[in-house]
Amino acid sequence: MRKIIPYGRQDITDEDINAVVETLKSDYLTQGPRIAEFEEAFADYCGSKYAVAVSNGTAALHLCALALGVQNGDKVITTPITFAASANCVRYCGGEVVFADIDPDSYLLDINKVRELLENSPKGTYKGIIPVDFAGRAVDLEAFRKLADEHGLWIIEDSCHAPGGYFEDSKGNKQICGNGKFAELSIFSFHPVKHIASGEGGMITTDSEKLYEKLLQLRTHGIVKSDEKYQNSIEFAEGSSVMSIGVETYPGWYMEMQDLGYNYRITDFQAALGSSQLKRADEGLDRRREVASQYYEAFKNSEYIKGQSAVIEGHAYHLYIIEVENRLGLYNFLREHDIFAQIHYIPCHLMPYYRQFGWKEGDLPNSEEYYKHCISLPMFPTLTNDEQSFVIEKINSFYEG
Ligand SMILES: *Cc1c(COP(=O)(O)O)cnc(C)c1O
Repeated sequence: MRKIIPYGRQDITDEDINAVVETLKSDYLTQGPRIAEFEEAFADYCGSKYAVAVSNGTAALHLCALALGVQNGDKVITTPITFAASANCVRYCGGEVVFADIDPDSYLLDINKVRELLENSPKGTYKGIIPVDFAGRAVDLEAFRKLADEHGLWIIEDSCHAPGGYFEDSKGNKQICGNGKFAELSIFSFHPVKHIASGEGGMITTDSEKLYEKLLQLRTHGIVKSDEKYQNSIEFAEGSSVMSIGVETYPGWYMEMQDLGYNYRITDFQAALGSSQLKRADEGLDRRREVASQYYEAFKNSEYIKGQSAVIEGHAYHLYIIEVENRLGLYNFLREHDIFAQIHYIPCHLMPYYRQFGWKEGDLPNSEEYYKHCISLPMFPTLTNDEQSFVIEKINSFYEG
């Protein structure tokens, strides 16, 4: 029997397993050295100054929204064609999500639609934009930065689909996702269907020291451990009622909770797995790009494929999407042959949760039209050429009979 071909899956090597086992045998299961190592390696990979590892991508988004000070009623713009967490982080902080439509060719948040929203409302209405490097295609953050600056907005780049992806800026330079040059903050997920697996896990990259420190604090309950930053007096910290003459440092046990934070830490054994996986990230990307160009070649002249992921430089191909008629028929037919294609995504604004805020069908026609036809084909580095040929053959046979 043929084994199931999923749309995405992790690749765990003996080296990965050894890295985890070594960590399990070490002194630290959490809050140990593997976390800082992973952060440094990841910052290095993206080209950012700082990286903060967290428990998952959703926690990363939540911390970003908190660090940027999203509050009740703050309006933030994002795309509906994304995993709900991109939008939900705004709601966690009481903010209002304003969805803007996608560009039907790139499937990415359409900057012109964002500009329309900004130009048609009083200055200060919107606080930020959360563009998503959907499917692995890097958003042109240079253009978004310019627009955001004109209107005083921050940017959180949701780069869960695109570690190692890049766009070419106006000078022709490669700008790697999460490099800290355009977005205040960029976030990544290490769920097993993503490029780098750590079980659960996430990362935030930034070039801002201030945001970096805020993120560290919020990741661990809002606790500060630094003599220079304490707000209470040394006398209070010591627990003495008299002035302690000549004492200039706080006692060793002392710490302060200065903000309402969370426990969004990653463990050391997850970080060890993440670091080990990161070493093979570029290899995985190369293979993803190869698989993508093979799909592209197979379908470029086919009549029943109305659209597909572009073959462009810098695409990280978390997903390879085709747009078809009778998508339900194809989905079921592929399942019968143990090919588990998937749909990314049901438009967020039409989820029952978001409908309660007034979103309805017809609001974002490009996203809704895209949803009617999209299907994500198996795309992962260990997909064999045989398996891919089987997938292509089944799709062709479904339409050609
Ligand atoms: C996976 C994903 C997330 C959330 O990441 P988790 O680690 O699953 O919490 C957020 N945004 C996008 C675009 C994702 O694909």
